[in-house]
Amino acid sequence: MPQNTAADTFSHVLTADTAAIRKMPRSALDRSHILALLRLGDFARDAFLATDPQGCVAYMNRAAERLFGYRRRSALGLPVADLLPDIQMFLDRLEDPGEASSIAWRSTGRRPDQSTFSLVGAVTPMLGLSGRSFLCLMRERNPEVSDDERQARLASLVYRATSEGMLVLDPKGFILDVNPAFVRLRGQHESEVIGRHVRCLNSSCHDRDFYRGMWRGVLETGRWQGEHWGQRKNGELYPEWLSINTSYAEDGEVYRRVMIFSNIAEIKRAEAIIWKQANFDKLTDLPNRQMFNDRLEQSIRKSKRGNTKTCLLFLDLDRFKEINDTLGHAVGDELLKEAARRLNGCVRQNDTVARLGGDEFTVLLDGIDEARDVERVTRKILRRLSEPFHLGMETVFISTSIGVTFYPDDATEADVLLNNADQAMYAAKAEGRNRSCYFTASMQEQAQTRMRLVNDLHVALDQKQFFLAYQPIIELSTGRIAKAEALLRWNHPVRGLIPPAEFVPLAEETGMIRDIGDWVFCEATRKARDWRRDYSDGLQLSVNISPVQFRHEGIDLGFWLGHLDTLGLEGRGVIIEITEGILLDSAVRIDQQIAAFHQAGIQVSLDDFGTGYSSLSYLGKFSIDYLKIDQSFVANLRPQGPDLALCEAVILLAHKLGLKVVAEGIETHAQYELLAAAGCDFGQGFLFSRPLSAAGFEALLSGGRDMRPERACESG
Ligand code: C2E
Ligand code: MG
Ligand code: MG
Repeated sequence: MPQNTAADTFSHVLTADTAAIRKMPRSALDRSHILALLRLGDFARDAFLATDPQGCVAYMNRAAERLFGYRRRSALGLPVADLLPDIQMFLDRLEDPGEASSIAWRSTGRRPDQSTFSLVGAVTPMLGLSGRSFLCLMRERNPEVSDDERQARLASLVYRATSEGMLVLDPKGFILDVNPAFVRLRGQHESEVIGRHVRCLNSSCHDRDFYRGMWRGVLETGRWQGEHWGQRKNGELYPEWLSINTSYAEDGEVYRRVMIFSNIAEIKRAEAIIWKQANFDKLTDLPNRQMFNDRLEQSIRKSKRGNTKTCLLFLDLDRFKEINDTLGHAVGDELLKEAARRLNGCVRQNDTVARLGGDEFTVLLDGIDEARDVERVTRKILRRLSEPFHLGMETVFISTSIGVTFYPDDATEADVLLNNADQAMYAAKAEGRNRSCYFTASMQEQAQTRMRLVNDLHVALDQKQFFLAYQPIIELSTGRIAKAEALLRWNHPVRGLIPPAEFVPLAEETGMIRDIGDWVFCEATRKARDWRRDYSDGLQLSVNISPVQFRHEGIDLGFWLGHLDTLGLEGRGVIIEITEGILLDSAVRIDQQIAAFHQAGIQVSLDDFGTGYSSLSYLGKFSIDYLKIDQSFVANLRPQGPDLALCEAVILLAHKLGLKVVAEGIETHAQYELLAAAGCDFGQGFLFSRPLSAAGFEALLSGGRDMRPERACESG
């Protein structure tokens, strides 16, 4: 019998042939050693598998159980090819006498569910008495990484790939590592910073106290974050968000500190843009209403503390709208920009010039005590703004009206101050524009009166407080009453008769003028129908139309014409009086509305000619029938005077364009003579008659007399 070999012992063990093992001599290796080795096998991390001489699984350790997914008991006796499908190839190689006695291999393992996996290992034969068996050692080739390992890898990836600069410090503040983003951000190579103390990164923008405070925070709480001005290697500063965090060892000692640098220049830029958009006027670059309000509040607080005064100016450019409408918005914008520049040039560095919108500006004069100082500023502003504006091809002249108010003399609240200045500005406009006006207590009263009037206006129409007065319009060549102008009157229950100049603007502001205007039209046309029927079939009544009536949806012409129909009055019986301003209003398709009136036979008269922008060009552009020379020209008529020349020229031009002329406000015989001589067609004024009640006008009509003054003298 051949000698027992260790391999035989081993194969007995593998086949669990313990009886055979026991029969074997107790040599050192043969039994206990091999049994011990196999027991130890269960503690090995690598899989361990042996075959019996028949090529079936004779042994597997626990790692092999885990790797192959078999319980040991069920695997024993299975053909090893079930678990290692390629094994035969390697076994064949081991037969080759040239091959080493064991070979390392890469192969495939198969689990009970038939899934496969890659493995690496070694296989070695064991030659025993009962034949050849094999021993295989294996582990999975790409085993899944552990969670810890995965996280570590991920962290490293983030550290390398992030756009935030990162830096790792040892507990003493020496730089251990920097990531590529840090290198890019600072323009400093790793080698220039690693190993140095973190203080080498301090920027010139912050002082020692800043860094002391920062590190004190880190020492106390382990962390710090805040805005920081980073400095690049080339000295350039940039804003960054800096966070410092600490990682601790298990014993609680500081292990590492990590600094993260985020460049916030873009965010800062965006923030600055947003802030600017919210606080500054895009066109002029001046502070806008929002910013102005802040500054006003600030000034008030400052004045309160210092017991000083703040002066607030409210400016409105005179007739800016006309420039905008005639020369276009581009020119208007240029004018505003230039006006803003000039305004800034009129005040001190720490005063505020703001644009509230449109052509409204405000100026805050800080710490002003002397009214004289304010006067100096307002005079300068008035002078500078009345200098010509050269805008492209155009030269434009404007002026401005300024309202002045003081903290704390006039008010202590910001919104009240602004209101005061606004009222004072309106007073300056009312006094003839191109001037400044101080806020007074009486303005406050006026404002309150205005408010009360607005309230009263709301009920005036329903309560039939309005009536119309009629002022005859005389044909100068014949002296007959050719027309009459219907003039609105408000019989206020408490205040008595209120002139239209006082309440029509309020009705316009509140939009009530639409309903009132409809009422005027209906009332006047009713009278026109009666008087044409009873006295003179050629008589025309003219009604004043406010520009506001044309805006938005415009006049409800269907309603008006329907009303004429019901009355049985032809359109020819009515003239509408419009003002120059509306012709310039680009927001209103006035040409279409005029055309619609003409279509219905209603004539159009241009009122107050000479007081507005008075562009002669639009006389030809719009089909207008009458031109009413404003009474301010008539008042100053003198032989050889400039206003006479003007009137003569206007009459001539109007006639050439096919328009008839009405002169308003004729009060004297001389005015009448001059106008008649100049060829003026019609006249209206106190010389002939004041506005009359309907009954008074009727009496005049029934008298049928020649209204010319000399005839009046002759007959009287
Ligand atoms: P207006 O259309 O220019 O009307 C002429 C104004 O001149 C009237 O003032 C009239 O009384 C006044 N007047 C007439 N002759 C003379 C004169 O010889 N000397 C002087 N100093 N004044 C004279 P009134 O009635 O106070 O109306 C003022 C303005 O109110 C009107 O000016 C018109 O713009 C507006 N208005 C009047 N009625 C209405 C209306 O029904 N609707 C609208 N929207 N506005 C109206
Ligand atoms: Mg009129
Ligand atoms: Mg007029």
